[in-house]
Amino acid sequence: MPGPAQILTCPYCGEKKKIMSLLSGNTFGAKLWSDNKKIAPMLPEISLIQKCPECGKYYFRTRQEAVFSDDDDWGPDSGVLTFPEMKEAFMQLSEEGFIDANEERSARMMLHHTFNDYYYRNIPDGKPVNDDDWSIFKENALWIIEHVITDGVLKAEYYREIGMMEEALSILQNLTITNEFVKKVAEEVAKRIKKNDRKVFLIR
Ligand SMILES: [Zn+2]
Repeated sequence: MPGPAQILTCPYCGEKKKIMSLLSGNTFGAKLWSDNKKIAPMLPEISLIQKCPECGKYYFRTRQEAVFSDDDDWGPDSGVLTFPEMKEAFMQLSEEGFIDANEERSARMMLHHTFNDYYYRNIPDGKPVNDDDWSIFKENALWIIEHVITDGVLKAEYYREIGMMEEALSILQNLTITNEFVKKVAEEVAKRIKKNDRKVFLIR
C-alpha cells in the first residue's frame, strides 16, 4: 500500500516534486518478461531516475535523503520514464558520471527495459525501430551482457533481442539445464531465434 508522498528536490534548480512511496507491497499477480523486467500490480515501480518538472533535468532519487510529506497526499506519480526520456537521462547522467557501478548498471537496465516497453511491450504488434535507437539499444545490451548478466539463458535472450542469433543459439546449445521452468524458457527463446524474432515476450 502507498505511504505518504516522498518529496524530492531537484539538485539543479531546487524544484520540489512529490512522488509515490510504498509502505508495503507484494508481488501477487506479478508478470515476468523475457528481458527480466518484473511488473507487479501491487508493487508499482517508482522510477529510480526522476525528471524535474521544472528544468527537465534528470536525477537519481537515491542520491538524496528521503523526506516525506506530512499531509495525506499520496503522491500518485511514480515518475516512470519513457524510452525517449530515458535516452536523454542516460546521456546526461553518464556525461556527469555515475557515482558507483550500481548506478550505471541500474541506469543501463532501465534503458534496456524502456526500449522494450516503447517498441514492443506496450504495443502488441511492435513498431519499426529507429536506427539511432537501435544502435543505442544494441551497444547498451552488449555492455549489460558483459558486465551484468551471469545467467546463460538470459545472456542468450539479450543476444536474441539485439539480433545476434548465432551467439544466442550457441550459448543455449552449450547449456546444461536441469530446472524444468528454465528449460521451458530456453525453448521459447530458441523458438524465437529460429524465427529471427527479436521481440521481448511474456514468460508468465
Ligand atoms: Zn530542476
